[in-house]
Amino acid sequence: MHEMSIAQGLIDILREEMSNHRAERLRRVKVRIGELSGVVPDALSFCFGVIIEGTELDGALLELEQVPLEGRCRACGACFRIRNYAFQCPECGDGSIEIVSGRELSIVEMEVDEEGGNG
Ligand SMILES: [Zn+2]
Repeated sequence: MHEMSIAQGLIDILREEMSNHRAERLRRVKVRIGELSGVVPDALSFCFGVIIEGTELDGALLELEQVPLEGRCRACGACFRIRNYAFQCPECGDGSIEIVSGRELSIVEMEVDEEGGNG
C-alpha cells in the first residue's frame, strides 16, 4: 500500500523533529496533501494509526489538509483548478500549464509536549 510507506516516512520525520526539539509527546500533527500526490486521506490516517499504535507516538492526532490541483497558463497567465488531470487552459486553450499547487506532501504543523514543559 502506497500510503503505508508515506505514513512511515512522515513518522520518521516526526521522530527526528521531536528529538531535535526534545519533545516528549506528540499531540497533533497537520499534514498537507496535494491532489496530485495520489494519497487517499482515509488510507493515510489508517496507516498512521496502525504504525503509531503502542509506540511513544500513540494517541497523536493526524489532521489532513487536502490541497486542490491548481495551474497557471504559461501563455495567458490565467489561474484555474485542474480537473480530471486536464492540463489545458480554460481561457485560451493552451496546453502549457505550470502547476501552482497540488503536489504537496508535507508536515505543516506539529503540537508537542516538551520535556519539563510548561504543562
Ligand atoms: Zn491560457
